[in-house]
Amino acid sequence: MHSSNGSDWISQLSTELLLQIFEYDLTTATLVGCVLCCKRWKELAISVLYKHVTLTSTEKLSSWIAAAPPSLDSTIKTLTVCPIYVTTDGVFQSPTTTRNQLRLDLDQLSARLRCMVTLRSLSISASGNRFYEICIPDLLMAKILQNIPETCSSLELDVKHRPLDASPGEQNTHLCVSIRRLVPQLQTLRLALPCICPESFGTFLSQSSKITPEFTPVQAPKLQDCIIRLASARGGGRIWTFDGSRCPDVSLSSVKAFVECLLALTAPGQAPLLQKLWVYDALPAGDPILSYAAYVRRDILANKSRTLPFTNIFTRPYRGGDGLLIRMPAEEGGQDLFTTPQGAAELVEGHGWTTATNGARLPATLMAKYRLPRRHCITQTKAEWAADNQISMILWEYEKVTGTRLLDAETGGLLEDRPANFRIPEGWELNGLDLERVS
Ligand SMILES: [Zn+2]
Repeated sequence: MHSSNGSDWISQLSTELLLQIFEYDLTTATLVGCVLCCKRWKELAISVLYKHVTLTSTEKLSSWIAAAPPSLDSTIKTLTVCPIYVTTDGVFQSPTTTRNQLRLDLDQLSARLRCMVTLRSLSISASGNRFYEICIPDLLMAKILQNIPETCSSLELDVKHRPLDASPGEQNTHLCVSIRRLVPQLQTLRLALPCICPESFGTFLSQSSKITPEFTPVQAPKLQDCIIRLASARGGGRIWTFDGSRCPDVSLSSVKAFVECLLALTAPGQAPLLQKLWVYDALPAGDPILSYAAYVRRDILANKSRTLPFTNIFTRPYRGGDGLLIRMPAEEGGQDLFTTPQGAAELVEGHGWTTATNGARLPATLMAKYRLPRRHCITQTKAEWAADNQISMILWEYEKVTGTRLLDAETGGLLEDRPANFRIPEGWELNGLDLERVS
């Protein structure tokens, strides 16, 4: 490349400066062009291209496995695998073909993970796909987890619910042993699995003298942030639970058993760097008019829970997928925010893990370290929503009529469930759908 006055000033830039330009100012397409320019640029461009590998569809995963030279695996710092089922040419392959190819690709990826000796972060996510449920069999996931190099200190596993196409025998395999092996090396961990047991964080040892086996937690000397989703929202105010889709709502006893085991991590010396240990589940709406469903965020270190009310909406910009209205706690803005289920998870989790504009899923600390710009999830404020829609919420109408806030994100005990019921002020009563003053 030459400037207009003919002097080759770009080639005189230091490698350090050139690397900065490559890293922060060039798009992926431009970087690919730089690979073809000269040997020096090729090396620099490739090192930038391979720093953050984001495989965000089944197709991208396949072509990366086929084309990316394994010799560069050792330069990868962050790896994001989100095999959403899409095709660029608009032709959908049969689910079976896609599934079989995905399994072959993930199997190869798991073998290559061992060579990613400078890897800092791995995110595997198969949720957020509306059209076809991507299945990563637990046995394959376990193989992937076993091959994670010891340099990797951030891990995210997000599989929304039990895939429909899982073959018999692929169900109910526990990943706890594979996860437990990794906990000692991790700084940040986010788990959103359809099935999870406390043995991801320790082991139950039976003692002959005691009826119930004792839980011994694993050492987590580096662990700082840990977020575990135990249930999430579904259309119509229904809830996906972590202990099987047949269960109509979240069973508090299973949440309790899980949380009680995690409490062992807070014992002195067990996880000395721990700053955030959050588990969250969800409560269905009690009354179709006078209550909302709610996320229940349980802050184990602070020993309290927070109820975040939400309700489902089915209009723009969420057409074709679920949309949620979520009421935030006062100290987090107190706003009514409209978002997708993924956006809601990000809000409930306090933006612990976010997506960069290049597609990489990273914990907030690494996002800052690599200076990656964040891709904001679809979120609208009440005012933005009102400008786009002619629909109001019953809650807003009631609050307008009574002049008071009738629903808040409440604080409770760690294992308490506080249903998100509207407060009907004294002197008011429900008449049909209208809230009226008692005459
Ligand atoms: Zn288990």
